[in-house]
Amino acid sequence: MSEEFNPLTDLEQTEDSAQYLQDTLLNAAEETDEELIERTKYNPYTYVYDKMFNCPLCFIHFAASVGRHSKTRIIKIDTDLCPHYEPFNPMYYGIISCPNCGYTAMISTFEYHLTDIQMLTLSEQIPKLCPPKKYDQVRTISDAIELYKAALLCSLLKKGGDAEKAILCLKLSWLMREGNFPSEELDFAKQARNTFMKVYRNLNFPVFGMDEYTLAYLIGELSRRIGDYEKALQYLEVVIRDKKTPVRLRPRAEDVYHMIKTAMQSKQQFE
Ligand SMILES: [Zn+2]
Repeated sequence: MSEEFNPLTDLEQTEDSAQYLQDTLLNAAEETDEELIERTKYNPYTYVYDKMFNCPLCFIHFAASVGRHSKTRIIKIDTDLCPHYEPFNPMYYGIISCPNCGYTAMISTFEYHLTDIQMLTLSEQIPKLCPPKKYDQVRTISDAIELYKAALLCSLLKKGGDAEKAILCLKLSWLMREGNFPSEELDFAKQARNTFMKVYRNLNFPVFGMDEYTLAYLIGELSRRIGDYEKALQYLEVVIRDKKTPVRLRPRAEDVYHMIKTAMQSKQQFE
């Protein structure tokens, strides 16, 4: 029986839940204090709730699981700006997928109007490429990866633009890191880097909350990760030298810059 049952939110919902509660009460006497603490300390259902969405493709109204950001805190940020959260990763809930037609997009853009051409392409291709699927209210990393891939596919089908493609690829590379899929992580980092370079050239900021300095830093760091040191130094130099660079960003850029210089020197020593 599920350990994740949350009496506060699920009590009235299903007979299974009532059965679970009954079982739990019956077993309670046999449970030690340590077991009780272990069982109740992390209950993922506390961190999510259902929110209603309108599908812009098939027009149904449906409930989807959304994370409670207020319940999270960031414990560290990787050099490519990937945040690590406690007690759960709200990124798992960043994508909404219509259970009726399969249209999938980021929560911030899901309800955006689709043009007739976009609707035609999506209606034709989604059933073949990413048919609708129902997900549990609490998502696993596999669910999250699947959903971000579906959102990327829908974005490409509807020609959603470079910024959207780049951010989805970046988040997929973060999820692949969390799931320990290093080669996929690198593939998505490369796609994100290449697409962010196009976005940067268009100079249409902010891009998903990022100013041009943060984006230049990110392109530099992603370039380092994929081994393109030349491009990495080029973008990081922009961040380090520009007087308008935000104070919080400069030391990060300098750290990555020195990391690359050290890597280049040790590479030369071995050649
Ligand atoms: Zn739909």
